[in-house]
Amino acid sequence: MLSQAVFRYNEAVKETSDNLLRRLPPVHRLLTAPAVSALAERLPPALLTESARAVLEATRKALAESDGTGAVPGEAELAARVAEEALRRATPSLQRAINATGIVLHTGLGRARLAEVARDALLEVADGHSLLEIDRETGRRGSRRDHVRGLLCELTGAEEATVVNNCAGAVFLAVTTLAAGREVVLSRGELVEIGGAFRMPDIVRASGATLVEVGTTNRTRLSDYTDALTERTGLILRCHPSNFALVGFTEETPTAELVALGRERGIPVMDDQGSGALIAPILLGLPGRKGSLRESVAAGCDIVTASGDKLLGGPQAGLMLGRKEIIERIARHPLARALRVDKFTLAALEATLRLYREPTRALAAIPTLRYLTRTEPELRRLAQRLRARLRAVLPADRFSVALMPESSQVGGGSLPGEDLPTVCVALRARNGSPSPDAIAAALRRHTPPVFTRIKADDILFDPRTLEPNEIAVIAEAVKPLASSE
Ligand SMILES: *Cc1c(COP(=O)(O)O)cnc(C)c1O
Repeated sequence: MLSQAVFRYNEAVKETSDNLLRRLPPVHRLLTAPAVSALAERLPPALLTESARAVLEATRKALAESDGTGAVPGEAELAARVAEEALRRATPSLQRAINATGIVLHTGLGRARLAEVARDALLEVADGHSLLEIDRETGRRGSRRDHVRGLLCELTGAEEATVVNNCAGAVFLAVTTLAAGREVVLSRGELVEIGGAFRMPDIVRASGATLVEVGTTNRTRLSDYTDALTERTGLILRCHPSNFALVGFTEETPTAELVALGRERGIPVMDDQGSGALIAPILLGLPGRKGSLRESVAAGCDIVTASGDKLLGGPQAGLMLGRKEIIERIARHPLARALRVDKFTLAALEATLRLYREPTRALAAIPTLRYLTRTEPELRRLAQRLRARLRAVLPADRFSVALMPESSQVGGGSLPGEDLPTVCVALRARNGSPSPDAIAAALRRHTPPVFTRIKADDILFDPRTLEPNEIAVIAEAVKPLASSE
């Protein structure tokens, strides 16, 4: 009885939704509606048709789910939705954005910003043919590795160098080449997750190696390593836990001692540096950070890996530096071909590395380095300029715009306590409306989108990661708030 009643009820509902659906206009009618046909000159016909189909499909679905209670939108309303959908689809997805978060290496916002010469070099090879893999003396096939190998060796003191797609790829390739089917010895204090899907134990496992954990979370002595070595050990691995710090009762085996142990037992020692500084971190305002690429190479590591787009400030890449015999073995592995870098990366990386021949030039020309080393007076000046621009576009009775001493983060694996002092511009609506979340969302929807931080009731603009010409863009993005309710 009951089930029959339910069946009849469902049938009735189905009928009403079917009736509703029948009242939707067909695709071709929507395409001739004024809101849509006005776009026909600018947008491809197929894009408009697809958008109309998508809007009708979404409307049908909403009506079906409303169990016959939903209202059918009018034709003009549907046409407006189609136009909006078409414009959304016509907008590039990967767009330039403004980073007012103060996070210098913001992974979501594309990490390092390239130096001007790196950008120019990239455009140059994008625009024409290039000497990517050709020897201009002989006219024969050359190697793409040659463009950065010499520079990397010169700047780090390494015997040999190569580059792959990113540092995760470099670690994967190195562990696969040197230790697949064998054991990798790693301290429990370095079993790190760098972010996203990069977890050291997973990488080692995926490389076909077996992870042998040694020591404890806070202390790992040389004897812990010595005791773990067997005839199956393929690699002694060190990984910089770049996003957390161990404090208190800790002990770490010095890299030089690991190198001596590896030499004695004929086992390669690898140092995954991650952040990859070519200039001593203390000169970058990061006194808490240990090590630089040169230091690891000088300690005698057989292989050192690092990111191209962290503290180095170049394009996404995975640098591999070390002993000739080891790097060559790695570069010959079939996986190296799968992880190889493209010409754009090489062009940008070579140009970035060339700047490091004169460290003062690198500090001035590489945005990442410039942002890290910005002084308080410079940050204050930028903040004052931004404050003035925002005050000029926002009514003072509704919005408060003030300077606020704050701290910026390095990002891309920052150490706790590594915050850099800064001066932010704090913006808030005096009566709390729009809310900080609503303001942040509006700024993100602007073209170009502006990304900020929220702290309690304030939107913070951190000038650390801004170029002076971006201040006007932010003022433009903020303008609509003046007329908001
Ligand atoms: C960031 C990081 C990686 C991964 O580098 P990508 O270039 O993002 O692939 C690997 N190891 C360490 C120690 C890192 O800090």
